[in-house]
Amino acid sequence: MKNFLTKSSAQTKKLGQLLAEELRGGEIICLMGDLGAGKTTFTQGLLRGLGVRGTITSPTFNIIKIYNLKAKSYELKAIYHIDAYRINSKDLSDLGWKDFAGKSGNIVIIEWAEKIKKIIPASAAWMKFEWINDKERKITIL
Ligand code: ADP
Ligand code: MG
Repeated sequence: MKNFLTKSSAQTKKLGQLLAEELRGGEIICLMGDLGAGKTTFTQGLLRGLGVRGTITSPTFNIIKIYNLKAKSYELKAIYHIDAYRINSKDLSDLGWKDFAGKSGNIVIIEWAEKIKKIIPASAAWMKFEWINDKERKITIL
């Protein structure tokens, strides 16, 4: 278990970018933590690190946002950014979870992953986000 105290959203994004460098495809990254804890901010950094351009918003109203990586390095094909706040494991199954999660060309990153624990394989990586004050967030790799 490793934890970080970030002192700005820029630092949280940086942490996401650092994690991006370690990814090779097939990973499932599960983010836990309340509203405003920094899950989307972290994901923005991670997606930037993987070469995604343009505005990156929360998939709250879409449930899943898919970013196709065209000329990116390695064999990464797509990133699936999921917001599980309003769904359950069954909903995600219906959305084709088995067809994309854990597949070698894909990276899956899930906000509110604790809501769909049932469907997440044991091989997934878990991170916890905590609000400390206006500027600070505690981020723990579990
Ligand atoms: P979540 O997705 O967990 O609901 P967001 O990333 O959408 O959280 O929101 C975090 C909010 O907190 C943003 O408005 C961000 O600018 C602000 N913030 C302030 N300090 C930090 C920090 N250290 N890390 C991440 N976000 C921070
Ligand atoms: Mg969010």
